Amino acid sequence: MEIAIIAHDGKKAEMVQFLNEQAETLHKNEVTLISTGTTGSKVEKAGFKVTKLLSGPIGGDAQIAARVAEGKCDIVIFFRDPLDKHPHEPDISMLMRICDVHDVPLATNPASANLLFKGIVNNI
Ligand code: PGA
Repeated sequence: MEIAIIAHDGKKAEMVQFLNEQAETLHKNEVTLISTGTTGSKVEKAGFKVTKLLSGPIGGDAQIAARVAEGKCDIVIFFRDPLDKHPHEPDISMLMRICDVHDVPLATNPASANLLFKGIVNNI
């Protein structure tokens, strides 16, 4: 199972915390993590193995969207910061649209990501 993780700057610490809480589920389900560049660096420092793509503002979100469109990515966890501006807003909207087009689960905050992972644990 391939899971993409993306976190805006104000949400990167929450992403690391979320992954730490889900470490057992990630391991048991042989999850492959892919991520945007800076998110990936933070997650690597926390001890996780992750394939880093470009940083979000220079195309990382678009690369993840391409993997979703190609059927290579199963779940997207995207902790957005709703209180900040983002120069790559068009890419962000595009990624969310592509998830909807292909009916790929997308969680944009820890509460929904936790529910999604409960679905993984229970094989839903
Ligand atoms: P980053 O990109 O992980 O490279 O910071 C995330 C984003 O802003 O989409």
